[in-house]
Amino acid sequence: MSSPFVHDAPPPQRVVFAPGALAQVAEEARRLGMARALVVATPGSGARLGERVLAMLGSRAAGLCAIAAIHVPRAVAEAGLAAARENRADGLVAVGGGSAIGLAKIVARDAALPILAVPTTYSGSEATTIWGTTDGDRKMTGRAAAVLPRTVIYDPELTLGLPAAVTASSAMNAMAHCIMGLWSPTRTPISTACAGEAVRRFGAFLPRAVADGSDIEARGECLVASWLAGTVLAAGTGLNHKLAHVLGGYGLPHAETHAVLLPHTTRFNAAAGGKVPARLAEALHAADPAGALAGMLAGFGIPQRLRDLGFDAARIPDAAAQVGALGIETPRRVTAEDARALLEAAF
Ligand code: NAD
Repeated sequence: MSSPFVHDAPPPQRVVFAPGALAQVAEEARRLGMARALVVATPGSGARLGERVLAMLGSRAAGLCAIAAIHVPRAVAEAGLAAARENRADGLVAVGGGSAIGLAKIVARDAALPILAVPTTYSGSEATTIWGTTDGDRKMTGRAAAVLPRTVIYDPELTLGLPAAVTASSAMNAMAHCIMGLWSPTRTPISTACAGEAVRRFGAFLPRAVADGSDIEARGECLVASWLAGTVLAAGTGLNHKLAHVLGGYGLPHAETHAVLLPHTTRFNAAAGGKVPARLAEALHAADPAGALAGMLAGFGIPQRLRDLGFDAARIPDAAAQVGALGIETPRRVTAEDARALLEAAF
């Protein structure tokens, strides 16, 4: 029998997927009733894509706000809101990764504007009602239906230039959400189905996308997998995320840390038995899922161990004590001693 669950269906969202789908951006903005869309992007190459989208929106474009930055610092959020007001925007078109979508979410939340998202990375933020912002070192997150993009356009052509290392680490981060989501106490039959399917697609196509960034089929499958992974995030996070969060306190980078930890946390959780190991084995076509993930990681030119990320071994006992104090019980209890062994193995 299924475990007991509560499933909250997400607010309606239209998802358009096709190579070249960016060409539909003006039509999709019209469907949302946008007459003055503010394009939100990161600076640099993000801004160049933003300019392109601005031109495609034609008379529906109100302006470009290419100031997005990772974790939406408060000053950036305030400037984004000011840009929406100054341009009298009636909608936001977020083009780029989690940073551009994250800024649009804060503006949407505070100015009650709809978002049309055009993701260009595997963050999956476009599929969640989660917003986040930072004030110095302080991070605030929350959930609001209003920040979920009303429409998402997935165009794999926009991801062809994503560097191999970013491709690998951000997709391993998305895989971590899916794999841990299979053990989440708040999982539902839908999140489990999406997680398994995302792991299957990443397992088959991520190595191809990393080896050859111009492989449009592999890029498209990874983009679909990251959409599914975003929906799984709604079911909560697990051991990998909690460990990565604690290590983030020592300055370790988020996605790369997720990637390094994933084979180890998967091995640890799989030892609890249950249905998940078989599900993962099927999705990854491997009898030993943790070994398969370690093999995938080894094939990517990204940091392989915590020591490669500059982590100081002397911090392991302190980090392990923090993880042990979190009281993680699912699928098995994680003591400080367990966390220490896990971190030592990953180091
Ligand atoms: P990002 O958006 O910061 O992008 C990283 C860099 O890659 C940027 O400089 C960007 O310009 C560049 N880039 C983006 N797409 C590119 C492409 N196709 N080709 C070449 N370069 C490209 O990074 P990210 O990992 O997508 O997002 C990270 C942020 O998203 C974090 O702040 C994280 O907290 C947030 N996030 C939020 C959620 C949520 O549900 N709210 C989920 C996941 C991540």
